[in-house]
Amino acid sequence: MTAALLPKTVVLVGAGPGDPGLITVRGAEALARAEVVVYDHLANERLLDLAPETALRICAGKSVGHCTMTQDQINAALAEHAAAGRSVVRLKGGDPLVFGRGSEEAAYLRERGIPFEIVPGVTAGVGATAFAGIPVTSRGVASAVAFVTGHQAPDVPRKADSPSRLDWSALAKFPGTLVFYMGVTHLPTIARTLIQEGKSPATPAAVVASGSTPVQNVVVADLATIAERVQAAGVRPPALLVVGEVVAQREALAWFESRPLFGLRIVVTRPREEALRSAATLEAMGAEALIAPTVEIRAIEDHGPLDAAIDRLDDYDWLVFTSSNGVRRFLDRLLELGRDLRALGRLRLAAIGPTTAQALAAYHLRADLIPPSFRSESLAEALGKVAAGSRILLARADRGRAILKDELSAVAEVDQVAVYRNLDAESFPSAVLNRIEAGTVDWITLTSPAIAARLHAIVSPEARRRIGREINLATISPVTSSTVRELGWNVAVEAPVHSWDGLIEALAAHVSRAVPGT
Ligand code: SAH
Repeated sequence: MTAALLPKTVVLVGAGPGDPGLITVRGAEALARAEVVVYDHLANERLLDLAPETALRICAGKSVGHCTMTQDQINAALAEHAAAGRSVVRLKGGDPLVFGRGSEEAAYLRERGIPFEIVPGVTAGVGATAFAGIPVTSRGVASAVAFVTGHQAPDVPRKADSPSRLDWSALAKFPGTLVFYMGVTHLPTIARTLIQEGKSPATPAAVVASGSTPVQNVVVADLATIAERVQAAGVRPPALLVVGEVVAQREALAWFESRPLFGLRIVVTRPREEALRSAATLEAMGAEALIAPTVEIRAIEDHGPLDAAIDRLDDYDWLVFTSSNGVRRFLDRLLELGRDLRALGRLRLAAIGPTTAQALAAYHLRADLIPPSFRSESLAEALGKVAAGSRILLARADRGRAILKDELSAVAEVDQVAVYRNLDAESFPSAVLNRIEAGTVDWITLTSPAIAARLHAIVSPEARRRIGREINLATISPVTSSTVRELGWNVAVEAPVHSWDGLIEALAAHVSRAVPGT
């Protein structure tokens, strides 16, 4: 179905418990079409990257110290934007209908005749527990699971000794796993009440905090001691309390915390499109990825020179690519012009490094030459040996180092053509800047000298002071490292293999060698 055929509605989307990969495909599609996104503080802000750049993003977070909107204001904002004919996504943590007030928002819209749709999400009781290696049901161990609120609205009268009007005696007898949401602050009362009502004090219990995120923290004890243990561990919300024999299975099933980059908060400074792909690798390895592009890739404005070069391909012996973007933009343009890969038939191909060669491989093309080291000097030297006296076309960004053309011109006939534009980002995302200034970031990855220089130029002096000291820098190559050092920053890790994967591998190797706690 094309987007134009879809009615404009308010879509209540479950964002999942934390890891941005836990949104549903349908939720992601709704975000991609959104003109307005109203999001909760429990929804991972990285998901906002799935919405068009032009979409209005409204933070409805209801936590202290965060942007705050009352439920009435949220309802009104949803209705107002929908009534103005905009596609609205209401992004809520976990599942919208599990302790999420999604039903209230939907009822409000229904009363006003505003169409809505509900996209379920992975609720924390299932998602955070899975990331903690705790199955909520298990054959022969727990045949039922109850999701229970541990929180009570202040206006609801309470029984003297229990945190809510729940039937605690029934809960204590419940034949299965109990999962309490919003229960950390009431933890001592919940545990005590369950024991008073007959639940064994030896029942395994766990608190799963920030499940599925890089700061996931799981405390396991028995029902009698869990409150004490959680207090000692300084556990912070959001957290779930899980009570039942299934908790014992975590010992065998825990998996997330042992990921190679678990717990690290890593800034990706590459152009947005690549940064999104890179972030996915980092997240799969257990890290939190913060996207802050310092340069952007854009299409060239005037295709004339590129089209002319494509027309004259037969005049050349070598076609040289210095980036994967160059490969994609060049070949896509060639296809757009109605040509196909036969246009390259007699050309030899050079790629500056493994990632560029991979981009060629995606078009079923093999690089004839990849220099031993991923840098212009190395490419110039390698090409100089095999391409002396021949005609070379360099397909590259509109700006970049001139060294390749300069060196090759001594031995060959060289033309260069810009296939895309490299622009400086005008500003640095404030959310990421705040994290750098607060020291709540561990690493920044740098994949080119231009990116390093731009980062230095657009961050605040306070951030500049922290970077390269408390916040480690990982670079893709010696060229990038030397720029970093010229900027006055230290390099903690330099990738021996000059590709994104090489960089991440080097980072993972570095942290696995580091002594924990240092
Ligand atoms: N609609 C959400 C729940 C909102 S209530 C859902 O379906 O998950 C908020 C409570 O959810 C928190 O107090 C906490 O108990 C739980 N929660 C949300 N995200 C969590 C996470 N990543 N880890 C552990 N608990 C989480």
